[in-house]
Amino acid sequence: MLIRAALSIWARLLLTVKYIYMNDHFLNPANGECPTQRRAFILDVLKAAGASALMAIPGTMLASGAGKPLKKNDREGIEEALKEDLTRGAKGSDKTYTVQDILDIILKEIPGAPFHKTVDTLKSGDKDQPVTGIVTTMFATVPVIREAIRRKANFIIAHEPTFYNHLDELDWVKENNDTLQEKQALLKERQIAVWRFHDYWHAHIPDGVLYGVVKKIGWEKYFTGEGLLAVPEISLKDMVLQIKDRLKIKQVRVIGNLSQSCRRVLLMPGASGGQAQIAGALKHRPDVLIVGELNEWETAEYVRDSIALGKKIALVALGHAVSEEPGMEWLKEWLQPKIPGMSITHIPATDPFTAV
Ligand SMILES: [Zn+2]
Repeated sequence: MLIRAALSIWARLLLTVKYIYMNDHFLNPANGECPTQRRAFILDVLKAAGASALMAIPGTMLASGAGKPLKKNDREGIEEALKEDLTRGAKGSDKTYTVQDILDIILKEIPGAPFHKTVDTLKSGDKDQPVTGIVTTMFATVPVIREAIRRKANFIIAHEPTFYNHLDELDWVKENNDTLQEKQALLKERQIAVWRFHDYWHAHIPDGVLYGVVKKIGWEKYFTGEGLLAVPEISLKDMVLQIKDRLKIKQVRVIGNLSQSCRRVLLMPGASGGQAQIAGALKHRPDVLIVGELNEWETAEYVRDSIALGKKIALVALGHAVSEEPGMEWLKEWLQPKIPGMSITHIPATDPFTAV
């Protein structure tokens, strides 16, 4: 009797953990439960059951990070976003992974990888270097690199270029680029590997960036795998305020009537380019087109004329870095169960602009 009861508790425990593990693997995208809460819940359940052996199950690992306070001059956004990690203890791993090991683990999940042509290459460091910790971010900015060094993490996975042009060409500008050289020297001196995870993350199913953004806004239940979402009717103004709040964006730019109602949303984070943005708007006829970055002389003018011609459309420009950052935040959650014990931290690159 006792044995049967104990077995049933174990079975239930395992099912709970398995469900949460699967949920971390995007089998239940409609579930809006916060992963941190999920992990806290698992730990509570495990603690109550004294089931320390289950701690080794992927998906139950705690996010890790060193416990030292941040330097005063670190950006406010970084400090805010890291608060949670800093209060948690680091968990070591007996297994050593090289940069290449991590890349292999990631690429296994990407349809069609490795690609013949891609910008997702190592921008610094060596593929054979052992990884002491991983940082995910939108841009490997100098503040992000410094924070990675402070956390003793020597592998940065960034979505966008490190050296200010799409192919990370080092001589893209013919003048002596001392900013680029000093950044390169910093990475070399501290032996930091930087890998761009752009083409592959967008090729993941679902698109890793798009899903991360949808999840962060709280629109999972309207997500069908594409950028077009049908959300409950809301005014443009309220939608913009909601997005600003959820994505923690200080300022966004809008073209359109703020009291207009919105239901069809075309979400295009990042910088897809004017042609893709306008083609998307024509194909899907959204009430509102939400982009990261835009060419003002293309998409913005198209929307301005469309409105003047009596068409219902609005444009919201979030800013490039902040519009895709949730994708790199989700990457941490996605990657952690695949590399149990590895310290993975998301450090937001944050919005470089100040509105004056
Ligand atoms: Zn992108």
